[in-house]
Amino acid sequence: MDHRYIDEHSVAGRYLDHELTMEERAEFETHLVDCQECTDRVLLAEMFHSRNGAKPREKAAKPPMRVRFVSLLSPWQLFSILALAALLLVLVPSLLLLWVKR
Ligand SMILES: [Zn+2]
Repeated sequence: MDHRYIDEHSVAGRYLDHELTMEERAEFETHLVDCQECTDRVLLAEMFHSRNGAKPREKAAKPPMRVRFVSLLSPWQLFSILALAALLLVLVPSLLLLWVKR
């Protein structure tokens, strides 16, 4: 991610408004680690937001996608997914081990 893209797509502002896709967010955060200019820009925008934010931003109150996804599932669905994941975690290495030992 470069500055032209960040400027053209208002990435810093959308980052604060939680409007970036997961990929964009990850890319921007990776960029932030090495870029003082963008870090300053985000901090400044954050200060501006919180100073003018007498009313809380509704979008910030929205739970992250992960939480919303989990809340859509019933407990038994969640349990099934976790059980399946655990089974795969055990089964795949075991099968690979058996296959390698032949
Ligand atoms: Zn930058």
